[in-house]
Order: sequence, then structure tokens, then C-alpha cells
Amino acid sequence: MTDRRHCLVIGAGTVGACCAWHLVATGHTVTLVDRVPPGQSTSYGNAACLSPSQVVPHSYPGVWKKVPGWLRDPMGPLTIRWRHLPWVAPWLLRFLAAGSASGVRASAQAQARLMHLVADDWDHLLEHNGLTHLLRSRGALMVYDTAHDHEQERWRHALEAELGFGSRQLAPGEVGDLAPALSPPGEGVVLHLPHWQHTVDPARLTASVAEAAFGAGARWLQDTITNVRATPDGVTALLEDGARLQADVLVLAAGAWSNALAGRLDHTVPMTAKRGYHTTLPAPGVELGMPVISGSRSFVMTPLDPGLRLAGTAEFARLDAAPDYRRAKVLVERARSYLPDLRAEGATEWMGQRPMMADSVPVISASPRHANVYYAFGHGHYGLTQGATTGRIVADMVRGIDPGLDMAPYRIDRF
Ligand SMILES: Cc1cc2nc3c(=O)[nH]c(=O)nc-3n(C[C@H](O)[C@H](O)[C@H](O)COP(=O)(O)OP(=O)(O)OC[C@H]3O[C@@H](n4cnc5c(N)ncnc54)[C@H](O)[C@@H]3O)c2cc1C
Repeated sequence: MTDRRHCLVIGAGTVGACCAWHLVATGHTVTLVDRVPPGQSTSYGNAACLSPSQVVPHSYPGVWKKVPGWLRDPMGPLTIRWRHLPWVAPWLLRFLAAGSASGVRASAQAQARLMHLVADDWDHLLEHNGLTHLLRSRGALMVYDTAHDHEQERWRHALEAELGFGSRQLAPGEVGDLAPALSPPGEGVVLHLPHWQHTVDPARLTASVAEAAFGAGARWLQDTITNVRATPDGVTALLEDGARLQADVLVLAAGAWSNALAGRLDHTVPMTAKRGYHTTLPAPGVELGMPVISGSRSFVMTPLDPGLRLAGTAEFARLDAAPDYRRAKVLVERARSYLPDLRAEGATEWMGQRPMMADSVPVISASPRHANVYYAFGHGHYGLTQGATTGRIVADMVRGIDPGLDMAPYRIDRF
């Protein structure tokens, strides 16, 4: 390290916490600021999976043909609150435009390059801080209800395999060995995804990474940043009460809320909030040794310390719109079709806002305008998966060393 600088990290989700730890671990002074305690926003209630094989972007040729069917079912995997359509429409157009054959390949390659790093980066961060007990390396199962559903997704798994993340179709007997409680439909297909890992509690993981940063000297500030400014001499953040916070370097890791501040420094990007829901069952009455993903119904069942988490669905609505917890409740019925003995007593529900880029690729970038500003947001469905890698890359960029991969696909000005 060449110099010790004061870095202000805005956002204490998984991404910001990992940035804070890496920056303090490489010798900088760090202030981590968030309006809520570490890991209490989107990073709190996700499906808890490190899912490196999921490199294929969410927009792909023909996706628009599926949308009307999804939208006809208000409790289906995807919904739009129609009165919020004017807000989401510009993003939707960019999203559909990103789904050309060449766009898909470019995004998948960019994601794969990051995804190949995540296991080592999480290992390093967790081992260094005595936190390896929070991670399980057991792979995951993906269930398709019918051979037809699997056939429809064959291209996706072929592309994943081509980019280094192969999966294997299981024989019926093998499913029973790996997940005795699971009863997939008789005519279904089950894949084993060997590269997947999961954490026993994503909220605890993020809070623990933030604690590790504080233990190493980072300062915590619970406040809202209302404005930011950068000059060659440093960065200034305005707090809600009008007070100013000065630093040498700014890292913007504010998840789905990042555009409000990115627009003050450089420009906004095509990102929207793609809401997801969970129901966590503290006494599910069934055991799953590893995450099970329903490829047909787009949700995940993950065994966690707090219980069995059922997570997924996609809903487009303004950032400040009230949650619709019917979307969380419906997951219990869906899960019962795979786990007939599932018990729902004491269930808790939650909604989170995925920071979703039109091309499904995160922004991990130096500012094109300001030498002391860095961006780390837009991780969509994979902020937990890519958090440690993003934190390490941001710290490398701040130190001026090569992060080990071409950063062009992740630049904020790539659009
Ligand atoms: C249902 C669901 C399931 C998911 N499953 C998975 C999964 O299995 N694996 C996976 O990898 N990912 C998953 N994700 C995605 C993952 O949760 C997100 O990508 C990740 O949490 C984003 O982390 P983040 O740190 O960027 O954002 P956040 O966790 O949202 O943190 C951003 C923080 O910035 C703060 N902030 C914003 N603006 C300001 C401001 N002006 N001043 C102060 N603070 C501010 C917010 O309060 C927030 O705490 C899932 C998401 C959902 C919703």
C-alpha cells in the first residue's frame, strides 16, 4: 500500500460491508455509513445462496414472449404494479434491448469472470476473520417439474457449462440420498449444482463482516446521506441534519438506492429495484441439507439457522411502495408441492429490493470524472454471491493495483 486514505463507504449491505473490511484491512481509515444497521436492507433476507453458476442474464432472446403469461397471474413469479409502470418502463425497454443473443453472451461472460472468483474471495474474507462457520459448501439442487420445463432451460445450462459451471442430472435414487424430504414430481428433472454454497444466515454474515471491519478500526455512522460532492481535494457527504462528512475517497455501495447519489457525481445508470420476498419457517418439520431451487416456479428453499427460508418472486414497484406480503405467503403453498410435510407455524415474511441492472451485470467501477470516487452497486440477484469479490476489487482499485480482471464490462459509463 502506498498511502493511507480516509475512505467513506455509503451503504452497509453485504457489498458495502465487504468493501469496508477490505479497505481497512489494506491500511485505510474507513467510515461506514448507513441509515440502518449493517445488513438490515436487501442483504438481510435473501435466499442465502452463493450461486456462481448463475451467469446468464435475466433478459434473453424471447423473454418478452413469457412476460404476458407471468403477468396474467398476480401471484406468479413476476408482477408489475401497473400504476408504477411509468417509473419502470424506461428500465424495461433497456432490459429488453439487452437481451439480444450477443448481449446475453457478453453479459454471461462478464458475470462468469466475476463468478469464478467468488469462492476464493469469500474463503479469504471468512478465514481471515474466523467466520467460516457461517458458510456451507454442499452444492444445491435445481428441480424442474416436467421434462418440458427442463428442455426449455437446456440452453441456459449449456451456456453455464461452457463458461465453467457444469451441472449434472440426478437419477431418482440419488435425489432421495441427497434430500430425503424432497418429493419432486415423478416426471420432473433434478440437477445437482456442485459450485453452489450457502450461508446459514445472510443477515448475520453481513453484520459479522461489518463487525470485523469495526474490529480492524473502521468507524460506524448510522445516518442518511442526502448529497455528495467530489473535488480533486476530497469528497464531502451531506448528512440529514445538514452536517458535512469529509473524506479522501468515496465508495458508493447503496444498493437499489445508489442512483440518487451516482447522479450527483457522474450519472445515473439503467437500474431498477426488483423486489423479492421471503417467508422463513422456524419449525418447518422437514430437513433439507442444501438449497433447492424450483426452476419451474422460480423460488428457492434454503436451510438456515433461523429456519427454512422460501425466497424469490419478482415485483416491479417504486422504491417507496408498501410491500405486498401475499407474494411471500404464496411461497409456502408452492414449497408444499415439493415438501408435503412442511409446517408453517411461526412464519415470518420479508421484502427486499434487488438493485437490478438492465444487463444484469453489476457496476464495480472507478468514476470516469472523479479520481477519488468508486462505485459498487447493481448486483441484482447476486449481491451476496459477489460481495466479497466486489469488496476486494474496490480495495485493489483504491490502492491502484490490478484487480486481476478486465474491469471494462463493469464500468459505470458502459451504457
Ligand atoms: C428475495 C431475494 C432473494 C435473494 N437471494 C439471493 C441469493 O441467494 N444470493 C445472492 O447472491 N443474492 C441474492 N439476492 C440479492 C441480494 O440480496 C442483493 O444483491 C444484495 O443484498 C445487495 O447488497 P447491497 O449491499 O448492494 O445492497 P443492500 O443490502 O440493499 O445495502 C445497501 C444499503 O445502502 C443503504 N443506503 C442507501 N442509500 C443510502 C443513503 N442515502 N444514506 C445512507 N444509507 C443508504 C441502505 O440503507 C442499505 O442498507 C436476493 C434478493 C432478494 C430480494
